[in-house]
This record gives sequence, C-alpha cells and structure tokens, in this order.
Amino acid sequence: MSKNNVIPMIVEIPKGSSNKYEVDGVTGRIKLDRVLFGANFYPGEYGMVEETLDWDGDPLDVISLATYPTFPGVSVNVRILGSIKMIDAGEIDTKLFGVFADDPRFKDFKSLNDVPQHYRDEIEDFFLQYKTLQKKHVEIHGWGDEKEAFEELKECRERYQNYKDRLNTPEGRESILAEWKAKGWGQA
Ligand SMILES: [Mg+2]
Repeated sequence: MSKNNVIPMIVEIPKGSSNKYEVDGVTGRIKLDRVLFGANFYPGEYGMVEETLDWDGDPLDVISLATYPTFPGVSVNVRILGSIKMIDAGEIDTKLFGVFADDPRFKDFKSLNDVPQHYRDEIEDFFLQYKTLQKKHVEIHGWGDEKEAFEELKECRERYQNYKDRLNTPEGRESILAEWKAKGWGQA
C-alpha cells in the first residue's frame, strides 16, 4: 500500500466536463471518446491509474473529489478512500474513489465515513444516469472500503503485468476481451 494511501491518477476528464476524454492505450494521446449524450457532467475529476488493467480492457478508473478542475493528462496525487462497485452493461467496472491529496480542503477526509453522504449520492446518481440516452444499463452494487480498493488496485496491476505485451495494438486488446468473455471472466 502506498504511503497514506496516496496514488497518482492521470486525469482524463476534468470535473464539470461533458466531454469524455480518454488516454488512448496504444498511442498515449488524449482523445475524445464521445460527448455525453445527455446534459450530464462529471461530478469529480475522473481518470485512471497507469500500468493497471481492469475487466473492461482499460486501466483502472478513478473518480476523485476536487475543488477546482484540472485538465486532461495531469498527474494528481489522490488519497484513495474506497471503491464504487459498478456493473456497466453486464461487465464489472469498479472505480476507485478518493480525494485530492494536495488540496488542504480535503485534509480531514481520511476514510469513506468522513465524506458527506450527499457527495457520494451525487456520484452514484451521475453514473446511474449518464448512459441512459445510450440505452445502456449501469448498476451500482455498493461501495467498498479502502482495503477493498487497494485489493482491486493490486489485482489490476497484476493483470496488467500478465497481459501488457498484448495491449499495444487495438487487435490485441480485443482478443484479450474475447478470451475473457468466452471464459465468463469479468462478467457480473
Ligand atoms: Mg473502466
């Protein structure tokens, strides 16, 4: 576990954005994946942890409370407080949750219990409805504590090490996902 549970997140989508940017796994460039279909915006800074691989074929996602938006590509130290157990269209798509470690406004946020309930409700509500106009179904199966979040991180780091040699082409990534699907891995 990292010192004080702080890990670097690479920001892909700044707080308040309705543009869904992501780091392209092959080129490393920041690209626009899509504009959110509805009038929705990200309620926190959203990004990923480098050198991880989640069941959706992407790096492990992170959403962090922040006071002011940064911009895509910035590395931010996030104090991880827990995880959000999300199922996106039948696929396991857990997200880590935390706060900016270098914003003094969050210095007293040391566990999930320190986070005002409304902040958590707002994040859940965002994920439950941000794909409704795409007719995609998202479920949230509760939140995990900090220990569960770091177990998730460890698994995603190990998975990355096992598959990294095949992740450098779009075809490689697709073939990994097809293998997992055939085995029923990563399905809810
Ligand atoms: Mg994901």
